[in-house]
This record gives sequence, structure tokens and C-alpha cells, in this order.
Amino acid sequence: MGNDTRNVRSSETLRGQLYTFLQALRGRPFGRFIREIRARERLDSKAYDRWVEQQLAWMLGYAKERVPFYQTGAWRDTTPGGRAALATWPVLEKGHLRADFDTLLADPQPRNTLIQKTSGSTGSPVRVAMTYHADAWGWAEKYAGRLRFGIPVGASSLRLSHDSRPLRDSLLGQKCIPAFTSEQMVDEALDYLRRHRPMLVEGSPSALFYLARRFREKGVRRPFVPFARIGGEQLYGFQRTAIESCIAETVVNSYASTETGALAYSCREGSLHVCADHVHLEIFNGDTPAEIGEFGDIVTTSLRNTAMPLVRYRVGDRGRLSPQNCPCGVPQAVLLDLQARSEDQFQTADGDVRHGSELVSQLDEFYADPATDPVRQVQFVQKNRVEWEVLVEIAPAPAVDNHALPTLPAIADGLTIIVRRTFGQECRVEIRYVEEIPRVSGKLRYYRGPAASDG
Ligand SMILES: [Zn+2]
Repeated sequence: MGNDTRNVRSSETLRGQLYTFLQALRGRPFGRFIREIRARERLDSKAYDRWVEQQLAWMLGYAKERVPFYQTGAWRDTTPGGRAALATWPVLEKGHLRADFDTLLADPQPRNTLIQKTSGSTGSPVRVAMTYHADAWGWAEKYAGRLRFGIPVGASSLRLSHDSRPLRDSLLGQKCIPAFTSEQMVDEALDYLRRHRPMLVEGSPSALFYLARRFREKGVRRPFVPFARIGGEQLYGFQRTAIESCIAETVVNSYASTETGALAYSCREGSLHVCADHVHLEIFNGDTPAEIGEFGDIVTTSLRNTAMPLVRYRVGDRGRLSPQNCPCGVPQAVLLDLQARSEDQFQTADGDVRHGSELVSQLDEFYADPATDPVRQVQFVQKNRVEWEVLVEIAPAPAVDNHALPTLPAIADGLTIIVRRTFGQECRVEIRYVEEIPRVSGKLRYYRGPAASDG
């Protein structure tokens, strides 16, 4: 089944049109925004840059005039304008959002606003006021990203999510299955995909990876559907490989934050393009902007949210902006080496600091070895600087008969090597085989410290 052989069904088109119409009635005219984004996507990079410069100048002017917080403290001397003016603005931290929520609100507040709240899973929650339009711009960016692949608004899909929304699901032709680890979830998903052949499977990379492993155990050897749309977590190579071999032909990656909505979306070349129609994205090294191509903190400026304009807001993830344009021709900048949750640092045996994702990216090599076939998921747990425990979620005996016990030493060796290579040869690594590694809202953490608070 090639990407282009499954034509969009007319029911999907109609569903999309109805949904777009109903959302416009609710004050979220994202259909119009999608058309604007698609039209601008055809500009060359110079023309696109000029447009960003204008939008930025408008937003900074608005923020300076309407937001009391930007008249105070380190923001007193900031100036409105385009990129050159933006250079006078300090970085806004999550702490500011918590402490100065009221003065960060535009005064007077525009009509039709809502409050977005981050989940507590990444520290104490943060609230952001957002206009319906800003919210709809975020959706429009996502749908415009999907349209690069020919995926329409009403595309039928299977969602692996704990976020149940029956009305929207039935309007959009989506089936929602909570991302549990049960046999029932796996069978239900397999049955749905076989019978309905939706265009999309959606979910977090860890949940889709788990599903792909379980499908493999059941003998599935090729993808069912054209696309898997993933988001909510950092994507690793071994996850992409597993998903593309047992679930979907193409993985479509996306990156978003609660505070701003869509931040980047993949193209057919597999690059993550910044959603530059509603957010201006910069990379910072501490308090100063990084060089082009340099790795650092992701800092965003909303170009649409007039309820609470966040200017140079440190999101808490890291990455770098490519100095080159993408061969696909889309003018928006490309975000590379995205690393979620910059605070996830662990000490090595020598006292150096390394990011947890350095362990996980080495699972590409680990999972390429057939000896690891029975391994469904793993989790690295640091007890202290030299002691680690690795939880290995392993298929029960009948499913691993072919491999039986002889593969266990290979699995243990592979994981021990990964820990020692990253955190020091003197690390002691204990491997623990378990039936299930606990998930939080369907998401698996591949690494964690000893304390519960980092969950
Ligand atoms: Zn591209």
C-alpha cells in the first residue's frame, strides 16, 4: 500500500469541512488560517522573512503597549520593532509566568480567551491565557503540516491517548484507545486497523513503539496504514524504525508546547519546520542568543496570542536551527536535534553532567540486535552516581519461546554497556526483568532519578 494509492475518501473530506465550519462558529476559524499558512509556505525565504519581521514588529508593539509586566524591571528599556528590537528583550522564564501571571495579561483583555495549563508531569504547572484565535492558529499550523503529506482535516485515525473527547472523535472519524499496556488494548488496536484501515495512527512515540513491538510478537511484519503522527515526547531512531516496520509507512513528527501550541512540524523530507506563522523561535545559550547552528535552549515569541503575549519565553527544551534551507522548498527554518526537557540531567561517576536522552539514543543499536526481540520497553534508573538499575519489560515466556533464556545475557550486556559508556566504566548496573514498567498518562519515561518528584 503506497502513500498515494489510498485516495482520500469523500467521507473524510466532508467530515473535515463540517468540523472546520463548526469550529468557525465557535470562534476558531482555523480553515481560513490554514489557507493563509499554505499560501505563505509558497513564498521564498526572503519574502517569508520580511513577513515574519512585520508580524514580529506588530506583536512587540502590542506587547509593549498593552502588557503591564513589560513596563517593569529588566523589561522597562525594551523597544518595540522587528528582530533588531527583539534583541533588547530579556528571556522570560517559567518562574515569571507563575509569579507574574496577572501583569503578563494584556490590559484590557481581548474577548474570547481561555486558560491553558501545563500538566504537572513536568514540574509545577504553568498557566497561560490564550485567545480563541491564537488557539486556532496552533491547530491550523498542525493541519497545514499534515496537508504537506496529503492528510486532510477529517482523515480517519486511531488515536492512542488518555485524552478522551467522544464528540470530536465522532465528528472527525477518530477512534480513541487509551494507551494502556494491556493485551486488550493491543488486540483492539490491531482489530481496528485491520478492519478500518484508517489513514493515520496518532500517539506518543513510546506508546506507538510499544504497540509496534506487540504487533511484531503477533506476527505483523509490515505497516497497515500510510501515516503515524507522533508528538508529546522526543522521537528516537529505534522508535521510528519499529513504527515504520509494523504500523505505518511514514512517521510524521511534531513538536508542541502547552504555552504556545504547535512549534514545529515535519515535512516530506523528514525535517521539523518551525511553525513560524504563529511563533518566532530562537536558540539561546544561557541569557544570550546562540550562533546560527549552535545547540541551546529553545526560546519562543508568540506572534498571535494577544491575551498574554509571551516574548522570548524559555520553553524548557533544547535544539538547534539549521543554517541550511530544507530541500522540500518550505521557507520556514528547520529545527534539529530536538532534546526534550533540558532539566533531565544526571551526574556521571566522574561528576560530569549528561542528559538522560544520551542513554536512550543508544537504544538504536541495542534494538537492531535480534537478541533483543523480547524486550518491549526499558527504563534506566539512577540510584546514585555509580549505581544504576535498568528495568526491562519483557514478553512472557510463550511469546519468547524462540529466544528463550539464552538471549537474556546479551540483553543485560547490551544495557550495561550503554550505561557505562555514558556514565562511567565504574558504574554498577543491575538488570531487573519486570512485567510492566509503570506509565504516566500512557507515556513511558526511558530514564529517571531515584526520587519520585522527577516523574
Ligand atoms: Zn522540509
